[in-house]
Amino acid sequence: MALKPFQICDDDLTPDLVKALAGEAYLAVDTETMGLIPQRDRLCVVQIANAAGEVVLLRFSRGVRQAPLLAKLLTDPGIEKIFHYARFDLAMLRYHLGIQVWPVFCTKIASKLARTYTSKHSLKDVVSELCGVELNKAAQSSDWGAVHALSAEQLEYAANDVRYLIPVRHKLAQMLQREERWELAQRCFQHLPTLVELDLLGYGNVFEHQ
Ligand code: MN
Repeated sequence: MALKPFQICDDDLTPDLVKALAGEAYLAVDTETMGLIPQRDRLCVVQIANAAGEVVLLRFSRGVRQAPLLAKLLTDPGIEKIFHYARFDLAMLRYHLGIQVWPVFCTKIASKLARTYTSKHSLKDVVSELCGVELNKAAQSSDWGAVHALSAEQLEYAANDVRYLIPVRHKLAQMLQREERWELAQRCFQHLPTLVELDLLGYGNVFEHQ
C-alpha cells in the first residue's frame, strides 16, 4: 500500500499502515498532549513521518491504553525512531500506552552535543539552521484534546513537527561524527529508557549532589 502525503487514523495504526512504514530505516515521531505531566495529562496525537516526508497522524480518544500496531512499529529493532526531546515523548508513550520505544535518536541531545557554538536547541532553531525552514509554532499550546475537531492550523503544525526530523538527524549525525561525539551521543540515547523510568517514578536528578 502506498502512503498518502498526509493521513489521519484513530486509536491505533492499521495493518496496512504498519506494513507501509515497516520497511523504513528511520521514522520521525512526535506527540501532542494535554500538558507536560504524563500522570495528569493525556496523550492526544502521535505523528509519524517517513524519509519521503509522508505523515501519518494518529488521534487518540480518551481512555485508550494500548495501541498494539503502533507498539509493533515503535519497538521494531530495525527502525530508528527520531524525536526532538525524546525524554518527554518516550515518557508519554510509556505511561499512556505501555510502549518502550527503541531504538531512539534524539535530535535535541544530538544538537547539544554537536552544536556547541549556540545555546539554541529548540526544534524551531535546529530546523531553521540545518534545513533553512522557519517552523510556525503558533499552534504549540492549543487544545489537542479535541481530536475530532483539530483545526487545519493544528494539523499543519503537527505534521511539520515531524516532517524535518529525518533530514535534521542526518545533518546532526554528520556533525557528531566529524566532532567525534557519535559514540557519546549513542550512549546518551541508550540512557534514555532509564531516565524516563526515573522521571515516571518521580525522581529528580539522582546524579546531582543535593
Ligand atoms: Mn509537536
